[in-house]
Amino acid sequence: MVLSKVDLHLHTTCSDGNLSPLDLIDKAVSVGLNVISITDHDSTEALDEAILASSKFSSLSIIPGIELSTDIPENEVHMLGYFIDYQDENFQVVLSEFREGRVGRAKEMVDKLGELGLPLDWERVLELAEGAVGRPHIAQAMVEKGYITYPQEAFNKYIGRNGLAYAERVKLTPEEAVELITGVGGLPVLAHPHVIDGVEKLLPNLAKAGLVGMEVHYGEYSRSEVAEFESMAGRYGLIPCGGSDYHAFGTPGEVQPGTVGPSIEIAKKLYELSGREFSLSC
Ligand code: AMP
Ligand code: ZN
Ligand code: FE
Ligand code: FE
Repeated sequence: MVLSKVDLHLHTTCSDGNLSPLDLIDKAVSVGLNVISITDHDSTEALDEAILASSKFSSLSIIPGIELSTDIPENEVHMLGYFIDYQDENFQVVLSEFREGRVGRAKEMVDKLGELGLPLDWERVLELAEGAVGRPHIAQAMVEKGYITYPQEAFNKYIGRNGLAYAERVKLTPEEAVELITGVGGLPVLAHPHVIDGVEKLLPNLAKAGLVGMEVHYGEYSRSEVAEFESMAGRYGLIPCGGSDYHAFGTPGEVQPGTVGPSIEIAKKLYELSGREFSLSC
């Protein structure tokens, strides 16, 4: 297993992860990570607490992050934003609107599951979601009910994009997500490009809109996939980023923090581009 000192894609209980911000920091320190980004879906709630906690560790630096979901016909495109000025009031208003949209959409999926003979307790779904509600919370509620064994089954059959109980989200285009992130001084980075059919077609416009990077290290990417996405990123002048997308789902074989990510040089490049000083005693 190749160990990485940088992991720029991590989730907490503030969205659909299962570790609290403090537990995630502890985990990052224990696996020897030096630079991380917490990138919860539509929420920056973890950041103040996590940044404060990380300040006790001179070997760990946190990049404030976010993950926004956008849609194009037939595909879902996730956009990461690094070094966002997350205290910006307008930005927080927009995020809270996205989170409200998530509640309506989750309820729609729960209603559809009920119609399919798989009723869930809506209050339980909300309880499982301490922060921004997401499909993994519905999947977890389905496991609890015994309808499925693993959350993945929920996506395969019911709540994946072509699933029987899938509900559309409020549409935000990838370009709009890029603008939202750059509007608060952030660096937009395209997440997990393998899920987007014909992703390269999107890159010229996104680069023009202000995209600065793309994940080339991710989950279980093979060496050849990393190489493929690295050269694709290079063709559009995008910084090759990445991370584990760790949620602490506890599923067998889940990719762990610190096992997948770019080099420290790439992290330094991001700091430089954001105008922040990179200081780490490691
Ligand atoms: P949501 O934000 O509600 O659209 O849910 C997105 C999250 O669901 C992602 O971050 C993944 O953790 C998970 N997810 C989405 N699609 C799948 C899938 N096909 N299989 C497993 N997990 C998925
Ligand atoms: Zn997630
Ligand atoms: Fe994602
Ligand atoms: Fe993610």
